[in-house]
Amino acid sequence: MTRITPQPGIMDIALYQGGASYLADVENVLKLSSNENPAGPCPAAIDALTRTASDMHRYPSTDHAALRAAIAEVWNVDADRVICGVGSDEVLQFVTQAFSGPGDEIIHTAHGFSMYPILANMAGATPVCVPERDRIVDVDAILSAVTERTRIVLLANPGNPTGTRLPDAEVVRLADGVPEHVILVIDGAYTEYADGYDGGLALARTRPNVLMTRTFSKIYGLGGLRVGWGYGPRDIIDVMTRIRQPFNLSTVALSAAEAAVRDIKWVEDCAALNADQRARLIGALRQLGLACDESDTNFVLARAATVAEADAAEAALNADGILVRRVAGYGFPEGIRITVGNADQTGRVIAALTEWRNAS
Ligand SMILES: *Cc1c(COP(=O)(O)O)cnc(C)c1O
Repeated sequence: MTRITPQPGIMDIALYQGGASYLADVENVLKLSSNENPAGPCPAAIDALTRTASDMHRYPSTDHAALRAAIAEVWNVDADRVICGVGSDEVLQFVTQAFSGPGDEIIHTAHGFSMYPILANMAGATPVCVPERDRIVDVDAILSAVTERTRIVLLANPGNPTGTRLPDAEVVRLADGVPEHVILVIDGAYTEYADGYDGGLALARTRPNVLMTRTFSKIYGLGGLRVGWGYGPRDIIDVMTRIRQPFNLSTVALSAAEAAVRDIKWVEDCAALNADQRARLIGALRQLGLACDESDTNFVLARAATVAEADAAEAALNADGILVRRVAGYGFPEGIRITVGNADQTGRVIAALTEWRNAS
């Protein structure tokens, strides 16, 4: 290794920590640690995937024309300005890699998404972390962190793990305030769960420096398949496309995502179920003395009074076979992020925490 040196930034990367998926000695584990859809994959996607499985010997489409056309139709966007990636993570990687490098800065907020500093380091750029105010993105803090070295601002809206959403007027103020040489990326991974929110689509449609990213991993239930997309100015998409591998998405992934995006009813039903159970869970958590903001996503962030109390609550959930996500790495050592499940699953969470409170 002595003469072999990695590119700048790579050794600064702390590996991404995913949500736990098993508990020792527990059967019937309820995984509420990765914001997955409790209803499973969109059924239309399973059908499409099954139908295209026999084409696996063929190379997939390189231009993703059918999927982009479906996205364009459903979301009323221009297909030529859509780019698809291996999850929205890859779309984010296209923009960071194509538009930043050593000496450049990428701004993200304190409780945005733990992939952001990783993506900055992957590109050799410097991640700049900006504080939030009461777990909500602070537009002024972002704007005052912008320098002439800033190339990209990564905004998760709604945020993960906060679940909070910056109001539209504030997002517009941010877009108005960033200089023209900076790309504002609005990561709308949870858009479908946020009532009346467009995920940044209107800004991405009209501004020369705004890119929106979206994913099939959350409400569509296709996290294991890895498909996401971005929408933005044509010249930015053209640059990103040059570094996209021609066969980044498999035939089955493309066909499943195309079927999923057309299944509008499924998305509406899942969003409605989530809204009901989310309200129920937030109400119960607050009653149990765990602080909790309103959420515009499919998870809630419960905040215990102390780290010890959070440890105890997590242990009680684990003892009942329920996996949740601790978010110390996101700046919330006393936080517990809980994915909103279906009615039975939410009942199980509430019962476990109620029993814990009663016993302590
Ligand atoms: C889950 C999530 C994503 C989605 O990542 P994929 O690569 O599309 O699975 C993106 N951003 C945020 C903030 C997320 O929480």
